[in-house]
Amino acid sequence: MTTASKNVYVFGAARTDGDAKMKNLLGGKGANLAEMCRLGIAVPPGFTISTEVCTVYTDQGQDAVLKLIDAEVRAGVAFVEQEMGKKFGDSSDPLLLSVRSGSRASMPGMMDTILNLGLNDEAVEGLARKANNERFAWDSYRRFIQMYGDVVMGLKPVSKEDHDPFEVVIDMVKEKKGVQLDTELDTADLKELVTRFKGLIRARVGREFPSDPWEQLWGSVMAVFQSWNNDRAKVYRELNDIPESWGTAVNVQAMVFGNLGENSGTGVAFTRDASTGEDLFNGEFLINAQGEDVVAGIRTPQQVTLEGSRRWAQLAMVSEDERRARFPSLEELMPEIYQQLLQAETKLERHYADMQDVEFTIQEGRLWMLQTRNGKRTGAAMVRIAMEMLRQGIIDEKEALHRVNPERLNELLHPVFDPVAIRKARVIAHGLPASPGAATGQIVFFADEAEEWVRKGRTVILVRQETSPEDLRGMSVAKGILTARGGMTSHAAVVARGMGKCCVSGAGAVHVDYHARTMSVGSETWKEGEWLSLDGSTGDVFLGQVPTKEAELTGDFGALMELADRHRRLGVRANADTPEDAKVARNFGAKGIGLCRTEHMFFEGDRIKAVREMILADDETGRRKALAKLLPMQRGDFEGLFREMNGLAVTIRLLDPPLHEFVPHDEENQRVMAHEMNLPLAVIKMRVEDLHEFNPMMGHRGCRLGITYPEITEMQTRAILEAGLNMKAKGIEVKAEIMIPLVGTVREFNAQAKVIRATAAAVFAERGEKLDYMLGTMIETPRAALIADSIGQQAEFFSFGTNDLTQMTMGFSRDDAGKFLPSYLKDGMYERDPFQSIDQKGVGLLVRMAVEKGRSVRPGIKLGVCGEHGGDPASVDFFHRAGLDYVSCSPFRVPIARLAAAQAAIDNPA
Ligand code: ADP
Ligand code: MG
Ligand code: MG
Repeated sequence: MTTASKNVYVFGAARTDGDAKMKNLLGGKGANLAEMCRLGIAVPPGFTISTEVCTVYTDQGQDAVLKLIDAEVRAGVAFVEQEMGKKFGDSSDPLLLSVRSGSRASMPGMMDTILNLGLNDEAVEGLARKANNERFAWDSYRRFIQMYGDVVMGLKPVSKEDHDPFEVVIDMVKEKKGVQLDTELDTADLKELVTRFKGLIRARVGREFPSDPWEQLWGSVMAVFQSWNNDRAKVYRELNDIPESWGTAVNVQAMVFGNLGENSGTGVAFTRDASTGEDLFNGEFLINAQGEDVVAGIRTPQQVTLEGSRRWAQLAMVSEDERRARFPSLEELMPEIYQQLLQAETKLERHYADMQDVEFTIQEGRLWMLQTRNGKRTGAAMVRIAMEMLRQGIIDEKEALHRVNPERLNELLHPVFDPVAIRKARVIAHGLPASPGAATGQIVFFADEAEEWVRKGRTVILVRQETSPEDLRGMSVAKGILTARGGMTSHAAVVARGMGKCCVSGAGAVHVDYHARTMSVGSETWKEGEWLSLDGSTGDVFLGQVPTKEAELTGDFGALMELADRHRRLGVRANADTPEDAKVARNFGAKGIGLCRTEHMFFEGDRIKAVREMILADDETGRRKALAKLLPMQRGDFEGLFREMNGLAVTIRLLDPPLHEFVPHDEENQRVMAHEMNLPLAVIKMRVEDLHEFNPMMGHRGCRLGITYPEITEMQTRAILEAGLNMKAKGIEVKAEIMIPLVGTVREFNAQAKVIRATAAAVFAERGEKLDYMLGTMIETPRAALIADSIGQQAEFFSFGTNDLTQMTMGFSRDDAGKFLPSYLKDGMYERDPFQSIDQKGVGLLVRMAVEKGRSVRPGIKLGVCGEHGGDPASVDFFHRAGLDYVSCSPFRVPIARLAAAQAAIDNPA
């Protein structure tokens, strides 16, 4: 196969082929390495093999890849040799390489990096002589064998305790020697490790560790491509909607060494605080270490900045003297390097106009940048960074609105610990505030068990010594994560922030015993299953279940919402059934209630008795008697809603669900009901039997109830209008909208409208006063959408009930779809769950059609949507384009809808 197209792109001082815009081809890491070279920032030279080659690997295998890129890779290595003045495979002064994966979207910890590639039994001696550091050379060699053995040769653990086979060998050697830290191992120990590692590979894999550098290089390149399809990469893609077809690039780069002694080191830094969003350069580093050590969270890292170091010391309860002596910041330790780093981070943040997450290595007093990317951040940091960058003039309003993923606002809307309860709670340990939020759950120590427990309906806190990519699924189902080791940039911390999950990391006092399934602090021990609470914003670990309290829209969050309101066209209302819900909705900025489900009030307290009495009544007289009992209760509810929504519209839907939902189906409760109603059990049973339907959701419900029992509609109308008049008398501005559900024909609408208007006339006559109200309908049967022009001549507003409309258009019910929908989604039969995100092509077409037909007969007709879809950003975008007036969603999704509506307006300029 010959091709003229380019597959390998070099970056370095002499020449750089790629740039930041080429992410699709070079992956995020490769594109940004190239961009940094272009900006004149010191980056070890290298080359990137494009993502297209990954597709060739997946489709045609490694021989095809070799054939395609062999010459280009050789030229790439020659380029690096030229830049570094060293030869690859030279055993007296070897050029060592790193092989790093990098897809379009950053996938932290997903694919393993191989460092120190090019070493073998001869080259290690050359490296030792050249660096004049034997220990360094052998440590580099054992790290290389370890990484290569794992990633390329596939050495896998044989049991849970075997977690990492190489680490088991290291622990053995350390134990034999009576030391605790890797750094305490000397050259002889490292040589022993190299021998043992090779033996382990030979025994378990059945092959020799390859000594030929080129064989090592190709093995690594292929392993990166292969890793695109490993389980954890797949899980991450699944969780983050990354298509498989994107592939990964491979970056091959000259090694720089942070482990050459006390004037070397390596670290990670953020241009702003990734947890809170504060505009504060911060980061962590380790002296005399290679990059992976920071992420692995095995040693306690030091802070990059003095300010960060002081804050850290305060949290860790380390005195200023001890801090300066044992944990000085880079700013204090290497002021010149620090200044260079500060310049680089400032340049990068300005250049990308976004918060950057950078990796750096210092080799013998020289700074090298190894990576930059837009930093992952919490929802809170997303909001603060966007708003501060707007105020700092770095980005404009539209960009600021786009910087926040609406879904991530969830994190700011969810409860925090109750401030009173928290004061009484007992703190048993303290760690780093790695990812904010409040979480409470039962202790579980293994990720797979976390999944199992959650499946059984428990809420869990995953407690680990440290986490690794294998723990991803368990982390995603846990309420919170607690690790004993690791810093702010450890695996657990980075992944938790990405998931918006509460995490406390590096709680050093916590001792985890995986065998005994216990955690202890000092002399106290807790077993799996006991309750813990974590505060990811302070790092506190509490014993027991601490109650939580609702969040508020203030500060930057409030400012972002105001900004969104200025840009959006769509109105945002909430679905709320009670005055309490209405209050939450209003606090979150809802401009009205788009759906009040009256029947939700029927279950409260004694009401259900009256409802049942109505259902059981033999005739209209009996029903009216029962309804008369319900009237004052409903009126009271509506008064509360109107009072709470003073000045804003309140859409009230008349009774909708099939009546069988209100009666008990088990004998025990039927007995209770019989007793309460003073009726024989047999009568109850017979009536319940009567109410049975084969497809209740397509049966006697919606306006069909009001048509067969007009007295129900009468009572509800009376309750609404009397409540309105009562509130109006108290100076409240009432905007009532009465909504008829499940209409399919104009006659149905007219029949109900007649009852409503007659009742209204009667109420107004009795009271000697009128109340303006609107009368509209839901569009939730396909037929209603089809004949929306005829219905629109009668109805003053439409509200799309997209849940029912979806069920009836798709021909499956939300309640039964669980049996096949998950596999449908996996197979791509549907791109997204149509109950979560509206099916734009099918159901959406009905919506568009009804909008057009409705407007054609009544230009000013009010159009809204009140399904769950009203709070889904992609659906909001669709409703904006379809020309609706408002969406209505659950109170907690109101801010999400407000932001999504603003983004829709920006993305679809009129
Ligand atoms: P990830 O995507 O998991 O962050 P990276 O490719 O960034 O993986 O590599 C992991 C670590 O290896 C980084 O922290 C980096 O510091 C280190 N590393 C990668 N390439 C080099 C190199 N050329 N020289 C020195 N260290 C490197
Ligand atoms: Mg990695
Ligand atoms: Mg990295």
